[in-house]
Amino acid sequence: MEITLALLKPHVLRNTYALNQIKALIGNNFKVLEAKEVQITKELSERFYAEHKGKFFYHRLTSFMNSGPCYALILQADAGIQKWRQLMGPTKVFQAVYTEPQSIRGMYGLSDTRNACHGSDSKASALREISIIFPEYKMEKDTPQAEGQVAPQSQQTKLK
Ligand code: GDP
Repeated sequence: MEITLALLKPHVLRNTYALNQIKALIGNNFKVLEAKEVQITKELSERFYAEHKGKFFYHRLTSFMNSGPCYALILQADAGIQKWRQLMGPTKVFQAVYTEPQSIRGMYGLSDTRNACHGSDSKASALREISIIFPEYKMEKDTPQAEGQVAPQSQQTKLK
């Protein structure tokens, strides 16, 4: 079992149909350990995307992530990191629309910045990103990745 951080980007939260479709997809594929609507500050967004600092899209991306609330989730599944990235589709929306039109980005991405969602790309990234977005999440005790265990059923969260 692996956990990953998923973010639904601000424009998705303004599209109730898209939001409900994506939540249903998540519910069918993952155990949801945590879920919350969160306003990501510019500072937090810059920390989150620090690896992209200096790239031409960095300011655009971090400003967009701060432009309205995101929906953040900690998801768990077998090979959960890869599974969520598969469902998201390619980073570039043009590619997503033409090569994976049924992916989340293929359906709900508007541009490379507004590409609908985020997913951790490794176990280390998942732990780092969860600590930024869910600082209250008890990593040592609860995290299967840290403990090599499956989270107990009681940890499951209902999607609102
Ligand atoms: P991801 O793991 O698929 O989200 O992709 P990356 O980690 O490479 O990039 C992080 C985010 O930066 C992406 O989700 C995009 O929103 C944005 N991004 C990446 N490449 C580009 C680009 O060439 N142009 C723009 N505008 N945004 C980009």
